[in-house]
Amino acid sequence: MSAKWLSNPDYTEFLSRLMHEYLLYAPVKNEKELTFQLMKDVSQIAIKGSSNTRFPPKSLFFPQSEVLMKYAGGLHSVENEEKDKMLFGIRPCDARAISLLDHAFDDEQAPDHYWQSKRDSAIVISYACLAPRETCFCTAVGGSPFDAAGADAQFVKLEDGFVVQVYSKRAEKIFADLPDAQKDMLKAVKTLSAQVIAGMPEALEKQQVHDKLLDLFESDFWRETSESCLGCGVCTFLCPTCFCFDIVDETLRKERVRNWDSCMFRIYSLEASGHNPRPTKSERTRQRVMHKYAYWVDQINEIGCTGCGRCVEFCPVNIDIREIVENALHRDSAGGAK
Ligand code: SF4
Ligand code: SF4
Repeated sequence: MSAKWLSNPDYTEFLSRLMHEYLLYAPVKNEKELTFQLMKDVSQIAIKGSSNTRFPPKSLFFPQSEVLMKYAGGLHSVENEEKDKMLFGIRPCDARAISLLDHAFDDEQAPDHYWQSKRDSAIVISYACLAPRETCFCTAVGGSPFDAAGADAQFVKLEDGFVVQVYSKRAEKIFADLPDAQKDMLKAVKTLSAQVIAGMPEALEKQQVHDKLLDLFESDFWRETSESCLGCGVCTFLCPTCFCFDIVDETLRKERVRNWDSCMFRIYSLEASGHNPRPTKSERTRQRVMHKYAYWVDQINEIGCTGCGRCVEFCPVNIDIREIVENALHRDSAGGAK
């Protein structure tokens, strides 16, 4: 790993150069919110401050609706874009989410070609969070506002410019011409990082959470927890690590399409026989929480939530996954208070 320096006056020119070499995606402020967009003018990039995009950037690798193949007059594969993508200004929690999704899509036995082809050709450049929001809790679930996971490089803003932490060989080439960061700059990054992390929640004991959730599997805790849930699916659609999908044939268009789906929808687990193994919102809420906090731990020893806070912020009835986990830790096996 190396560390480079990009001064404020050089920032725009450097990013403009990258924009010509790559399909450069970065957060842009629209009327209501930030969204990842293909850049035509780098002055639009909105990375400062504490806000994150409402939709996570996973859609650049796993689009909400994706044509897998066309079958008008024979089978046709779908072509890839001609240039490599670069995601710039992605928050560390979302970069980490991409590395978690690699486990789901890049499975040795069943690799997902559609994810892999987009992922392999993309460079991810994260932007360290200097002012996490009240709903952020990456430090509780194994991450950090300066987390390197999933990123090829990370920008850290100092007063006069950016320290660029370079993590991958591909990123080494991109930043090779920049001067090395000086010792005092690296010291400033360390101090900043310690200050920001000090204000964040403490790490959860993931095995303890895992064991407690399994213990509560049959309890009334889930009915109580899910009482106000509307089953709208917002929490899963906005989640950077959710990856449920459904594949349909659009016969008029003669296309096979993969669309995002949600385990919070009643018909998600409805079987052709009419049987539904998750018939109520209680089982569905249990599935959402246990997938992230128990099943991912079983599979890859990581919590499958990156603490981005989107589900906390946008749930229309204020269901808060942090509270669910905290409450679970204070229940006995029957779901009652300890
Ligand atoms: S966003 Fe809230 S109300 Fe909607 S499905 Fe998720 S938990 Fe339920
Ligand atoms: S579960 Fe909620 S906080 Fe965790 S990664 Fe998904 S949206 Fe973010």
